Amino acid sequence: MAKRDYYEVLGISKNASAAEIKKAYRKLAIKFHPDKNPDDKQAEEKFKEAAEAYEVLSSPEKKQRYDQFGHAGMGGAAGGGMNMEDIFSNFGDIFGGHNPFESFFGGGRSRAARQRKGSNLRIKIKLTLEEAAEGTEKKIKLKRYQECKACQGNGSKNGTSVSTCTTCGGRGQVQQVVNTVLGQMASTSTCPTCQGSGKQIKEKCDVCHGAGRAVSEEQIPIKIPAGVSAGMQLSMTGKGNYPEGGGIPGDLLIIIDEEEHKELKRDGNNVVYDLYLNFADAALGTEVEVPTIGGKAKIRIDAGTQSGRVLRLRGKGIPELNGYGKGDQLVYVNIWTPKELSKEEKKLMEKLRDSENFKPDMLRREKSFFERNREFF
Ligand SMILES: [Zn+2]
Ligand SMILES: [Zn+2]
Repeated sequence: MAKRDYYEVLGISKNASAAEIKKAYRKLAIKFHPDKNPDDKQAEEKFKEAAEAYEVLSSPEKKQRYDQFGHAGMGGAAGGGMNMEDIFSNFGDIFGGHNPFESFFGGGRSRAARQRKGSNLRIKIKLTLEEAAEGTEKKIKLKRYQECKACQGNGSKNGTSVSTCTTCGGRGQVQQVVNTVLGQMASTSTCPTCQGSGKQIKEKCDVCHGAGRAVSEEQIPIKIPAGVSAGMQLSMTGKGNYPEGGGIPGDLLIIIDEEEHKELKRDGNNVVYDLYLNFADAALGTEVEVPTIGGKAKIRIDAGTQSGRVLRLRGKGIPELNGYGKGDQLVYVNIWTPKELSKEEKKLMEKLRDSENFKPDMLRREKSFFERNREFF
């Protein structure tokens, strides 16, 4: 959708004064404020549009750029659309130091007392390659704030010694009439007596002394799906800290880490294994056993196998997370050259040294490391 002209959005002329711009924005901010238009997407869009227009036109520098180049001149400055928090945090200057919509900072849209959320917890879990590939369940011991059972989290004696806050009448907010440059305005702010909960504790809980929560240790089973990798984050809703004074608990965030495998290396969803072959085996052909995830596999080595050949074990890699398909295991062939030779071995080798078949044949070799890498670009 094409952006509307900022002057048009605010309903003002191009030579409107700073005071006129501010006044026009205030009118729109109040009219389309989400608090007054709950669940009205259109009003929310209008509200954001006005905030963006004001953001630009209230700044002499941005305004000049906008007047000269239009929306194209704004780059990312305000062009990306503003988020609600930015908009509200700017209300301070517009409403003369008083934010008539302060209730908004709690994040809730309703006039009812807001639900507090506890903090998130973060843990790191180290997995073996097998665990990452096959999925696992880990039981971890976790210390966290949990709801005080004695008071069900509200902090009052037996959970029942609570009354409605007398300051705000249970609404969690109080109204004040304040004088601003534009006359008297009704301002709403969080109730200072109950901090927005709408309730007052008459007698504190004996167990938690009013906090509504206590630290306890819990064993939590964590299901790790197959295909995770280092750096990924899983989350468990509600397994974080319970907030002070009641509400809903935060989440538990689980960060995946991987242990290094002794023989196998992970490369995305593929698994790489470096195989060292005896020179005679490579020349004559043989069968070898290689380690795989969770087991071993026998592979045939053809006679005349070159160093640098890559053998692919299909589907022996790591499964796609939440998807279909699996990676492969790649076996890189390296030929082992003997470092020491006995007298007898030396004699045998001397005999073979000038043999025609021992001369490297450039047409029948494997791709070199550099050639292989080049194919990726
Ligand atoms: Zn109150
Ligand atoms: Zn308690």
